[in-house]
Amino acid sequence: METFKLPKLHYLPNALEPYISENTINFHYGKHLATYIGNLNKLIEGTPFKNMELENIIRNSEGVLYNNAAQTYNHIFFFNSLCPKGGGKPGGALLEVINSQWGCFDAFKAAFSAAALSLFGSGWVWLSADNSGKLFITQTPNAKCPLDDELTPLLTLDVWEHAYYLDYQNQRGKYIENFWNIVAWKSVEKRYHHIR
Ligand code: MN
Repeated sequence: METFKLPKLHYLPNALEPYISENTINFHYGKHLATYIGNLNKLIEGTPFKNMELENIIRNSEGVLYNNAAQTYNHIFFFNSLCPKGGGKPGGALLEVINSQWGCFDAFKAAFSAAALSLFGSGWVWLSADNSGKLFITQTPNAKCPLDDELTPLLTLDVWEHAYYLDYQNQRGKYIENFWNIVAWKSVEKRYHHIR
């Protein structure tokens, strides 16, 4: 019996073009994410982790199980952070707090992009919030996920090369620039609303 299943994408595989191609979605979602989920299911089979929530597996594991559980979580979060005809700016409380912490939305964007560009090797860049609603831009290496630091993730960008190499080759900067056109701010706002 499979415990975790590849979740449905909320958009068609070609819907993020021209920013992320159907080819990249087919590999990144259809192969990379599917492989992490397949590995996770094999690793929890016959262990106390079976039937645990994904977040609890992440909080209670290490090594190869942690890596596959966290990569499953991170990728589902990433694909849910995107949508066709996204981009622009968030609104409401989220925009107010961004403005108060970074001065303006463009300064926040620049700080997030700089974090994504400067991350060495494979990893993730996150916008997260603590329990008081304070926002943080953080980098996590490899599979590491902000749940470990008691932060609630709001938005993430995958900067592993497999996320952009088919479309952008070595040009991570172009991938980051185009990411801003497909951010699902409505979902990010909703997540933030739940914390406050
Ligand atoms: Mn990835």
